[in-house]
Amino acid sequence: MKEELLHYFWRTHRWRDQNIFTTDGQPLQIIVPGDLNKDAGPDFSNAKIRIGDELWIGNIEIHVKASEWYLHQHQYDPQYKTVILHVVWSEDQQVYFDSNRKIPCFELKNIISKDIIDNYERLMNSAFWIACEKQVDKIDMQKAAFGLNAKLIEKLQDKTTLLEHIYSKTNGDWNETFHRFLARGFGLNVNGTAFELLAEKLPLELIRKYTNDTEKLEALVFGIAGFLNNASEDYAVKLKGIFESLPKNNLPEILPEGVFKFFRARPSNFPTIRIAQWIKLISDHDLLLSEVVSMSHPDEFINFICRPLNGFWQNHFTFSAPSNGFPTQAGKEFAKLLLINSVAPFLFFYGKKLGNIELQQTATDWLDEIKGEKNTIIKKFQELGFPTSTAAQTQGLLHLKKKYCECKLCLECPFGAQIFRS
Ligand code: SF4
Repeated sequence: MKEELLHYFWRTHRWRDQNIFTTDGQPLQIIVPGDLNKDAGPDFSNAKIRIGDELWIGNIEIHVKASEWYLHQHQYDPQYKTVILHVVWSEDQQVYFDSNRKIPCFELKNIISKDIIDNYERLMNSAFWIACEKQVDKIDMQKAAFGLNAKLIEKLQDKTTLLEHIYSKTNGDWNETFHRFLARGFGLNVNGTAFELLAEKLPLELIRKYTNDTEKLEALVFGIAGFLNNASEDYAVKLKGIFESLPKNNLPEILPEGVFKFFRARPSNFPTIRIAQWIKLISDHDLLLSEVVSMSHPDEFINFICRPLNGFWQNHFTFSAPSNGFPTQAGKEFAKLLLINSVAPFLFFYGKKLGNIELQQTATDWLDEIKGEKNTIIKKFQELGFPTSTAAQTQGLLHLKKKYCECKLCLECPFGAQIFRS
């Protein structure tokens, strides 16, 4: 028996339809199980219970064996003086406050069904891709979307930490925060940090000085990104010449070599072509953030991104690699990823900071309206029968896998709860 399972039983209050008693035979009613405490001190706080005729409000301590109270030396810790109930799997020893008053005890071993414990053991001992892989038939997939929506919100909340960091570095400048966060999206997983660094060095104010001259803007951006240091190809040499002629007084330092990675990337994901697409987007839209916020459908954003490039980047992936007829403009799949990884989390954060629920809703609505991404994790969930049609669902699943399945937090998972109940 594990204590975390007892926490789950207490939290979910699974015996609510039974007449329950303390080990002294007093009728027990659990009115509010309390809030889980992850810091030092009793396990649940602010619980409300009735023992006999008396109402108690206070803390709950949970152990597998009652004797752990003494083992953990709670008798010397003042934080435990407010415990109103000791919840244990087995009361192997009676436990007293130092006043010799017995702490009321609630024993679980005779009221929890063996099936539930067996289900839990099966999940915890499972070596499958996800622990519940062989029990997915117990999950009501019609209702799965609700559970996944909660995981999507958690994922969006997680991203607010990074956004909060960027927001504070820009001194609360929303346009600049969006500029840096969107740039990060252009770099995808491999070059996300490099793109964010580049956008940090090239604030919108500096970029705007060159948006009416594409070659100057490209010289500035590729120069600061470090791609012109050893220029040998014609167009790179040309941009290098322009870069060196730019006024030096307010130019940032060039990023060190090796910040951008080409390794194992497909040509369409090379950082050079992504930078060219990024430059096009910024130079085409002076008021990018307000344009995005005023969009009524995610397709508008996708069409925004998938615009053909001009000049040299029309038919090159790098300064030396021609595209040989392959399109160099951002594709719909990439635009969708930008929307999923950058735009939706930003709108969610923006709405949260401004107290604007509609903006937060737009973030989740847009993810509901576009198709889910395809990758090996999503394919596996799809084979198991989980819903994967929308980006909201696939994002929820990716969060579930990383934060719950991989840590075997099945007790915290809405699908785990269904399996326990079965
Ligand atoms: S966390 Fe949920 S989905 Fe993942 S293995 Fe456990 S019960 Fe299944």
